[in-house]
Amino acid sequence: MAPPKSELLERIRKAVDAEPLDRSTAVAAANWLEHAPEEILEPLLEAGQELGIRGHGRTITVSRNVFIPLTNLCRDRCAYCTFAKDPKSADAKTYRLDEVRRVSEEAFRVGCTEALFCLGDKPEVAYRGYREWLNGQGYGTTTEYLVDACEVAAATGIFPHTNAGVMSAEEMTALRPFNASMGLMLESSSRRLRERGEAHYYAPDKEPELRIRMTREAGELMIPFTSGMLIGIGETPEERVDTLFVIDQLARSGGHIQEVIIQNFHPKPGTPMVDRVTPSDAIMAGTVALARLILGPGMNLQAPPNLSPTSLALLVRSGLNDWGGVSPVTIDYVNPEAPWPAFRELERRTEEAGYRLRERLCVYPEYINDRPEYFEHTMLQRLRAASDEEGYACRTP
Ligand code: SF4
Repeated sequence: MAPPKSELLERIRKAVDAEPLDRSTAVAAANWLEHAPEEILEPLLEAGQELGIRGHGRTITVSRNVFIPLTNLCRDRCAYCTFAKDPKSADAKTYRLDEVRRVSEEAFRVGCTEALFCLGDKPEVAYRGYREWLNGQGYGTTTEYLVDACEVAAATGIFPHTNAGVMSAEEMTALRPFNASMGLMLESSSRRLRERGEAHYYAPDKEPELRIRMTREAGELMIPFTSGMLIGIGETPEERVDTLFVIDQLARSGGHIQEVIIQNFHPKPGTPMVDRVTPSDAIMAGTVALARLILGPGMNLQAPPNLSPTSLALLVRSGLNDWGGVSPVTIDYVNPEAPWPAFRELERRTEEAGYRLRERLCVYPEYINDRPEYFEHTMLQRLRAASDEEGYACRTP
């Protein structure tokens, strides 16, 4: 049974001062937020912001990146996705290595420090034509091709950060020398979302166990890693809380989760989920605050500014400390309808909310300064050369 509201508010307060939030309190708070956000949002924000400031001061970071969707073919079919294209469509595209080089060089020239390699999951398993093309280039898998693409990008001076879906330990090992960091959104720990009619029914790579396994192995391989949760894809408030606790457990046991993204679903035309609604600004900000209370003050907590353009001030009050990657040169290919804010505009709005915006590399300062064991020698040298004494990005365009 849920605790009375007064007791719940007291426990939220205690999560700031003494004890971490326990699961039953978090579930009760998430349910309350879902059904009457106006009653609980302010206490959650107050607690989340206080913890966020304790961990990170009044600084919010951002990474200046270029988005390289190496291939937009994917063997999965998530019910909310427009990133993945049919190989016969005019929009299907796989970058050649010379295109990767050109895009990376141009991005580096205008001050980008991160090349975000975000691509579909194992398209060679589903599409014969693509598989034959890949084989013709001398590669057996997309990941083998990705390793060379990351090497080409890294040679231009930019830092690759790969998010290529579920990979094996061997594949991550091959990518590690050329990637400063990698990531995989857990999205949700709910197996229910894999059932018929749910968002991940046609997406074998969204099996939570596979994603948990890869995240754990990334820790064993000492890879600074990004995880995250997608909200609004049919999960219950309780499942949101469970997802956050799974991420917290992975972070505590591996020590390698450098950031956690809370991302809000946006419906897209032409998808089975076009009629679903985006979570309200209050639910989004309240969920970020809950994440802060569960993950603790030290975790880097991120929400994408282009997906909540009218509520940045509210998000700042939720306890986040990072806006993620923002690109001056490419669109958000996953959410093409949502333009990035300009850097000056993001800086102005962050300052208006009482915080300072600072640029980071795709790796957070504490890893560069205090955790050299996470990098091979050459990568560490490069990261140190590209960062100031505090570990923030020191290149400015
Ligand atoms: S969301 Fe990712 S895994 Fe799912 S269909 Fe799109 S590209 Fe593939």
